[in-house]
Amino acid sequence: MIVINNLTKIYTGTSPEVLALDNVSLTINPGEIFGIIGLSGAGKSTLIRCINMLEKPTKGSIIVDGQDITKLEKKDLRKTRQKIGMIFQHFNLLSSRTVYDNIMFPLEIAKIPPKQAQAKVNQLLELVGLTEKAKVYPSQLSGGQKQRVGIARSLANEPKILLSDEATSALDPDTTKSILKLLKNINDELNITILLITHDMNVIKQVCDKV
Ligand code: ADP
Ligand code: MG
Repeated sequence: MIVINNLTKIYTGTSPEVLALDNVSLTINPGEIFGIIGLSGAGKSTLIRCINMLEKPTKGSIIVDGQDITKLEKKDLRKTRQKIGMIFQHFNLLSSRTVYDNIMFPLEIAKIPPKQAQAKVNQLLELVGLTEKAKVYPSQLSGGQKQRVGIARSLANEPKILLSDEATSALDPDTTKSILKLLKNINDELNITILLITHDMNVIKQVCDKV
């Protein structure tokens, strides 16, 4: 469960300062696909970056499984962050690494033993339907395939929560549908809570339990 209380974020590095989040409170239940919709500039990415602690909130708390993650020390923060996967609009793949090695990357960082890591990567390739593409580079993939790699990579450390920031915004409608279907499968089969950010009401309608 994620409980957000009175979350406020003010960017102070600019003049004038920007009030990006103004006293946001919400509860996301385990296993939910929770949608957040808003216009460009509404503060969606800021909210998601606060949840994985890439951005420090100005005020308020974010309780994940009973623990206020805004108060974590560096070491615990790294551990908690591994339990939160993230996917992006522009995929953020490493262009010099193959599909296989992109998915391997977070497992290397987490120092997972090679045998176990290889098995995990193969399992994830199968889950996202890219076993055949293991050896190719991101530039040789379609947008939808790139996002499948992004999804596989985000699941490598077996997160409990998956954050999706406009993950289908760069894709055509049919590809969007297939990616949303994959997210729904992952939610069902792996019981991962998904926080899905979008500016598109159709995305919300297709997969979200709440908005
Ligand atoms: P969204 O994802 O909904 O489009 P953002 O969270 O990216 O919105 O941005 C919310 C507001 O905060 C915008 O006005 C944006 O310009 C501002 N903002 C975002 N990031 C920064 C930053 N690093 N420094 C200053 N202002 C920022
Ligand atoms: Mg955004």
